[in-house]
Amino acid sequence: MDQEAYLRSLLPESSDHMQQIEKFAEDHNVPIMEPLGIHFLQQMIRLKKPERILEIGAAIGYSALRMLEAAPDSRIVTIERDEIRYEEAKRNVQEADASEHIHILYGDALDMSEKVAEHAPYDLLFIDAAKGKYEEFFDLYTPFLSEDGVIISDNVLFKGFVADDSEASKRMAKLAKKIRNYNEWLTSHPDYHTTIIPIGDGVAITTKK
Ligand code: SAH
Ligand code: MG
Repeated sequence: MDQEAYLRSLLPESSDHMQQIEKFAEDHNVPIMEPLGIHFLQQMIRLKKPERILEIGAAIGYSALRMLEAAPDSRIVTIERDEIRYEEAKRNVQEADASEHIHILYGDALDMSEKVAEHAPYDLLFIDAAKGKYEEFFDLYTPFLSEDGVIISDNVLFKGFVADDSEASKRMAKLAKKIRNYNEWLTSHPDYHTTIIPIGDGVAITTKK
C-alpha cells in the first residue's frame, strides 16, 4: 500500500449526505477536493476557528459544507459562475439545512467584490476556482481579510504536473505553468509567509507577515 492509500485508510467515514455529494461529483466530473485534502482543510479550520469564510469556487457546495462541519457557527460566502453547479450547490446546502450559514453567490468571482464586501471582513479566504487566475483572486480579495486572516489555495501541485509536466497534455502543461507562476509569486511575496503541503492536490497555507 502506498503512503496515500495508507493515510486514506485512516480517514473517518463521511456522513451519508457527504457521501451522496461525493458520488454525485464523481458521476458528473465535478472536481471537488480530495478526501485527504478536505480533511486537512477541516483541521486547519478547527485550528483557525474562522467566523467568516470566503470561498472562490463553490462547485456543488461540497467544500463549503465540509468547512461548515469544521466550524459550525461560521458564515461562509462562496462564489460559483457555472449555473448548473450553482443550482446544485444551493440544493445541497438546503438539504443540509445550512442556508443560514452558507451564502452562495452566482457569477464570475472577478466581478463580485461589491457583494463580497457586504459580508467582510473574512478570517479565511479559500481559493479553489480557475487555476490560471489565482493571483487575481488573491489580489482582489485579500483586502477583505481581517488582520490575522489566512489564505488557503487548493490544487497548487495540480496532479503532480506543477513539479514535472513531462507526462502532461499540452493543455494540462499550460495550466501547470500558470500554477507554477502563482506558487513562485506567492512564496516570494514580501507581505506573506507561505507553506505548500503535498496533500490532496497540493494545498498552500498563507499567513500575513
Ligand atoms: N471548492 C469546490 C470545488 C471547486 S471546483 C469543492 O472542493 O467542493 C472549481 C469551481 O470554480 C468550478 O465549479 C468552476 O465553475 C468555478 N470557477 C472557476 N472560475 C471561476 C470564476 N472566475 N468565478 C466563479 N467561479 C469560478
Ligand atoms: Mg480544488
